[in-house]
Amino acid sequence: MRDPNYDILFEPMQIGPVTAKNRFYQVPHCNGGGYRDPSAAAEMRGIKAEGGWGVIFTEQCEMHHTSEITPFIELRLWEDKDIPQLRRMSEKMKEHGALAGIQLAYSGINGPNLYTKEVPLAPSALPIRTFTNDPVQARALSRTEIKDLRRWFVNAAKRSRKAGFDLICLYGAHGFGIFQHFLSRATNQRSDEYGGSLENRSRFVNEVIADMRDTVGDTMGITLRVSLDETIGDLGFSNAEVRDFIEMNKDLPDLWDLAQGTWEDCSGPSRFKEEAAQEQLVRGIHELTDKPIVGVGRFTSPDVMARMVKSGTLDFIGCARPSIADPFLPKKVEEGRIEDIRECIGCNICITGDMTMSISRCTQNPTFMEEWRKGWHPEKMNAKGDSDNVLVIGSGPAGLEAAWALCRRGYNVAVAEARDVIGGRVTRERTLPGLSAWGRVVDYRDYQLSQRPDVEIYRASPLTAEDVMEFGFQNVAIATGATWRRDGVSRQHVVPMPIDAKAKVYTPDDLMDGTVPGGNVVIYDDDHYYMGGVLAELLAKQGAKVTLITPSAFVSDWTNNTLEQATIHARLDEMGVDIVLNRGVTEIHTDHVVSNCVYTGKTRAYEADAVVMVASRTGNDGLYHDLMARQDDWADAGIRSVKLFGDAEAAGPIAWATYAGHRYARELDGDDIGDDLPFRREITELATE
Ligand code: ADP
Ligand code: SF4
Repeated sequence: MRDPNYDILFEPMQIGPVTAKNRFYQVPHCNGGGYRDPSAAAEMRGIKAEGGWGVIFTEQCEMHHTSEITPFIELRLWEDKDIPQLRRMSEKMKEHGALAGIQLAYSGINGPNLYTKEVPLAPSALPIRTFTNDPVQARALSRTEIKDLRRWFVNAAKRSRKAGFDLICLYGAHGFGIFQHFLSRATNQRSDEYGGSLENRSRFVNEVIADMRDTVGDTMGITLRVSLDETIGDLGFSNAEVRDFIEMNKDLPDLWDLAQGTWEDCSGPSRFKEEAAQEQLVRGIHELTDKPIVGVGRFTSPDVMARMVKSGTLDFIGCARPSIADPFLPKKVEEGRIEDIRECIGCNICITGDMTMSISRCTQNPTFMEEWRKGWHPEKMNAKGDSDNVLVIGSGPAGLEAAWALCRRGYNVAVAEARDVIGGRVTRERTLPGLSAWGRVVDYRDYQLSQRPDVEIYRASPLTAEDVMEFGFQNVAIATGATWRRDGVSRQHVVPMPIDAKAKVYTPDDLMDGTVPGGNVVIYDDDHYYMGGVLAELLAKQGAKVTLITPSAFVSDWTNNTLEQATIHARLDEMGVDIVLNRGVTEIHTDHVVSNCVYTGKTRAYEADAVVMVASRTGNDGLYHDLMARQDDWADAGIRSVKLFGDAEAAGPIAWATYAGHRYARELDGDDIGDDLPFRREITELATE
């Protein structure tokens, strides 16, 4: 059972008038569903309740219509009409004894109000600060309007109570909440009693918390989320000033929720940030206050969690991503099943759901946000269907996830892998700079499969259609991955580009297989996710003179969605990589490439002893097509189904592969749903006119 070392994580603790059953605290996190997919979001929180979290929060909830962050999809509490969907969420959160928390956000200088068309209100008149540089400015709140805003918070608190919540978190972190906008000299340039000294800048939050205490403080705990450092230099709300603020306002909230910097700082990917990265910034704050503290740091290790509490650094272990990757983390610690924890890999794919206003995915947990839509539970599989066995070909993330999910359904599973190591692309990519934590995708599944009597893994076993026909498995799952193209076909070129036959052109696969060119190396990145930037690091580290040419305006453009684009640019620049933006490559010769401006078409040459082509990938679907060509012989061979999925079907990020593998396993032997939608959704109820 439970290791006594972790007992401290299971001690109850009071937050104002309410008590959390343990120290596992799911801090607010977005999910890309929000108000558009309320039942999907509610069920996702409910699964965390079942998984043992002591405190579970919503994502940010816009508390008044005069401040909203369209196009991003969060929650809304603008009128009583919004209460039922929030109540559904709080009820799910409380089903297993967790405290239900709602994060109230007034976005101020961060809310462009593109939907409500209201003029944004902020402490001082400045342009709106968003990811998209919206051409909109806020005007300064008048004193009367500050009173209005205080009342709106009270109204929201009353509605939150009606909606069944136990805790309210006032958002003032990440540059996103008005409390930070008042506290920071960067965004508060007022000369009245709300601006200037720290005492004055603290006035607004003091007033709001006092108002709320009067209204709901007897039954609800009030927490305040601020960043440990605004990370914008002297003008910002620095770590030193945060400490002064907490010391001056010791008992202000019922709990201090200490996030960090901007969202990019707080949710740093594993490529750039270790577990517990904020430890130095939070250490010692406990001595300044009698109120409990929650802090984050992509905590996945119960040893680190216990150390945080034992050392008096934190009282609660705040988790967003670790609770997404494994909603059952607390239960597994409690039951002494540490090795079953599915650790977050810090890839930030979950965040891309919010950034692209779609619905989130998780690389490690393919059931995330499918709990209601598809009825997928992270720990329970549907019962086995008619057939009994499956041959999975390929042990990348798609094949391994399929095998792991299939054996839990009760199938006998054999996995055949051509190479002598399992893991496919993950095993190869984990050796690249900064990507070692991604290896957890394989390690977790490798260990879990090794514990199963009903799974056999055959390494160094490249299979042909002939082999498959002879084996006689009832179901054949083909997850044979994809290969990087050498001919430049991607977005700029939809057909191969002119390449001199003698030019040295390498693909990411070549580099991962150990061929790393030196001298002047041009990386042509028309893929735009992490690979081009990571290979630039690899090459620069090994002494090459690297020029990264991309048709995009940003290096590793799509990583804007994983919150790491700016860090990647800075890293490459520091390493001496020459970053060439808005330019393509149109010809490759033995000693140079011809590059074109994407706007004018004007060309110029760049010296290149070698070119690394980060373009697109081709599915390894030969085996699949060979088998399909022999469909008439399947019955004699005992084959009932053959399915292609993962990168072999259509290449994408690793999260797409684990999802595809999981989906294959869930749907095997399932009913034919015909033309029906393969998931549930909610649509807006029409007004009566
Ligand atoms: P995905 O991301 O879809 O899981 P990967 O490329 O990571 O794809 O993994 C595919 C795996 O399949 C690789 O490890 C590759 O060696 C293996 N593989 C490819 N073709 C065969 C084959 N014919 N027989 C066995 N294994 C194969
Ligand atoms: Fe962690 Fe990646 Fe899952 Fe997000 S998507 S929770 S970062 S594993």
